[in-house]
Amino acid sequence: MEEFRKTIRRIIRRNVKQTKGEKQNNMKISDILTEKTPHLSFEVFPPKTDAAYEGVLKATEAIAELKPSYMSVTYGAGGGTSKNTVKIASHIKDKYNVPSLAHLTCVSSTKEEVHQVISQLKEAGIENILALRGDIPKESEFPLPNHYQYAYELIQDIKSQGDFCIGAACYPEGHVESEHKKDDIEHLKQKVDCGVDFLTTQMFFDNNILYNFLYRAREKGVMVPVIPGIMPVTNANQVKRILSMSGTNLPERFKAIVDRFGDNPKAMQQAGIAYATDQIIDLFANGINHVHVYSMNKPEVAAAIQANLSEILNK
Ligand code: FAD
Repeated sequence: MEEFRKTIRRIIRRNVKQTKGEKQNNMKISDILTEKTPHLSFEVFPPKTDAAYEGVLKATEAIAELKPSYMSVTYGAGGGTSKNTVKIASHIKDKYNVPSLAHLTCVSSTKEEVHQVISQLKEAGIENILALRGDIPKESEFPLPNHYQYAYELIQDIKSQGDFCIGAACYPEGHVESEHKKDDIEHLKQKVDCGVDFLTTQMFFDNNILYNFLYRAREKGVMVPVIPGIMPVTNANQVKRILSMSGTNLPERFKAIVDRFGDNPKAMQQAGIAYATDQIIDLFANGINHVHVYSMNKPEVAAAIQANLSEILNK
């Protein structure tokens, strides 16, 4: 019955927007996820310095021109890049008519500072927020007074401040701080119950890890849509970074590619795109309709993956 009501509300919302002649750029991701055909979305990250802003904007625009189902913009924990998240997410939505998802981390800011960002997102008409805790800062105690400790607290606050579609992170291989995957799933369930509409996964390189995670999450009652996040690894340095994030399993097939092509940037890029494409095809073939690509401000990588899947995506 509740599902039926949700569907009716969705149809009414869409019809009202169409009647008013509003653009579809401010669609909620929960609505996009009702589509039953394969879709891709892409991620960009804001510049670390003002000098780099124009370059990032150009890359963002080139990715937006591919017309993904939505684009996400990451959030630099604490100061620095964070002001640009709202700016870039608005630009994607307003200039390219592509729905945007603004990431928001909370661990390094006071609750008042986080509330201000939520107000800015509301003012900019951004309807989708990926609510994250962020990594625990090494230089200060944790949690600081008047700061958040876990993402679920941020989700509760976002929920109370507007009609946002709220996403959250999940970790098919378990979050690094969690000693036991079982606890991680229990915390995930608690987070989802606070009002999460969808989840996006950490990168993974073996799809069986995702399928196993989905089974365990569903068994524990985590029923919201889960969007797999796929990282095309296009240079050997990325591999070093991935290995430094403990817990990410690199299959032998993947390691062989890096061993063979890691010293040849063009060959590594081609092989990395092919590997990611292969993972995405397998996900679509197994009934998943939506995949998020960590395109890392690289329009050529996003475009190559989309071109590899042109018939599947009907683009
Ligand atoms: P939480 O859900 O709060 O979980 C953090 C840890 O605490 C987990 O180990 C969990 O099991 C545990 N936990 C949760 N609740 C409880 C509880 N009640 N009691 C005890 N333990 C608990 N980082 C950025 O800085 N910027 C970004 O833009 C960004 N985007 C991301 C996007 C995705 C899709 C993903 C997967 C990660 C992203 N991150 C980003 C990284 C993220 O901020 C870190 O992984 C962070 O350490 C955890 O954030 P979280 O929201 O998952 O935290």
